[in-house]
Amino acid sequence: TSTETARAIAAADAHSAHNYHPLPVVVATAEGAWMTDVEGRRYLDLLAGYSALNFGHANRRLLDAAAAQLERVTLTSRAFHHDRFADFCTRLAELCGMELVLPMNTGAEAIETAVKTARKWGYQVKGVPDGRAKIIVADNNFHGRTTTIVSFSTDAEARAGFGPYTPGFEIVPYGDLAAMEAAVDADTVAVLLEPIQGEAGVLVPPPGYLAGVRELTRARKVLFIADEIQSGLGRTGRTFACEHEGVVPDMYVLGKALGGGVVPVSAVVSSREVLGVFAPGEHGSTFGGNPLACAVALEVIAMLRTGEFQARATELGEHLHAELAPLAGGGAVDAVRGRGLWAGVDINPSRGTGREVAERLMARGVLVKDTHGATIRIAPPLTISKEDLDWGLDQLRGVLGA
Ligand code: PLP
Repeated sequence: TSTETARAIAAADAHSAHNYHPLPVVVATAEGAWMTDVEGRRYLDLLAGYSALNFGHANRRLLDAAAAQLERVTLTSRAFHHDRFADFCTRLAELCGMELVLPMNTGAEAIETAVKTARKWGYQVKGVPDGRAKIIVADNNFHGRTTTIVSFSTDAEARAGFGPYTPGFEIVPYGDLAAMEAAVDADTVAVLLEPIQGEAGVLVPPPGYLAGVRELTRARKVLFIADEIQSGLGRTGRTFACEHEGVVPDMYVLGKALGGGVVPVSAVVSSREVLGVFAPGEHGSTFGGNPLACAVALEVIAMLRTGEFQARATELGEHLHAELAPLAGGGAVDAVRGRGLWAGVDINPSRGTGREVAERLMARGVLVKDTHGATIRIAPPLTISKEDLDWGLDQLRGVLGA
């Protein structure tokens, strides 16, 4: 029967652009933390759609919210009001402790929106001379794939061959507050950071860094934009990763889990002073803030308001890191990083590449994704049971011979 897998993969290879190199598994169904492939084999999902599936596959509350909305109305475009929009914006602003919401669909679109917002705010509010706005970003960042966003990537794979690049960005080392301070000038309108760098390998900045950036940006009238697309909405044990340092940025950029893995939903959330810069016609999206997206996201927000998923991420995260810590230094693993139910595990080259480890885990019924060659990322749905997580960790120890 593995011919069915082979056939599906061959057809995909023949008829799709090769901008991904997926593991050779063809998923047919999924529930909770488990996926089943076309052969009927089951796999524990330790990637959770890059944290889009924080609430698990086929979450009953999210499916019910989506199903109910499917029967009512799914799309109006923003040319008209619809009856889920105000609630969505109100509740999301509340969750963020902010005032205004600008909904989009994907993470990259929301980052583009944040960039446009910061530039307009810079010209209209801060008084930066037209065309001179500068945004400071960190090296090894990952904010998406548009031409502007790859313009300030330091990853050659993401960037090379896609120029000419958008100007107006300066790149400083992640975690280096002095470098950030030196980069801020009169034309600087914003600092854009991931509070924990996900794609870079779950890099947690040094203690005090985010708080330092907050202080610096406030003092210099620069917007602090937190890209919480991957780190936010429960993953780290808090609603926002910034909370671990008591930091409130000027703008949250959200995506992934906001749509519960059901529909793409992203948003920029900020103050009236900042998001108030937009006038009709200056920005938008056909699907941004559509009724189906709002209905699902409203359920996500309601679930996050209880705090139960954040508590679960904290509790299981402590267990995950307690289990992973002894691996580091044991020969199989060079380092483990992370926060909450989120870990980056650097595989020692003696045990193979990250890809090889992912393939061996797949053979044992566990799905993970490698990043940057040697790192395995562990980010299961926050709803995973402790028993399933332990079983997954047993498989990891098994393939590493640890
Ligand atoms: N920002 C961060 C921190 C991300 O992790 C990602 C996706 O991995 C993005 C932005 C881009 O989101 P999308 O793939 O939905 O465009």
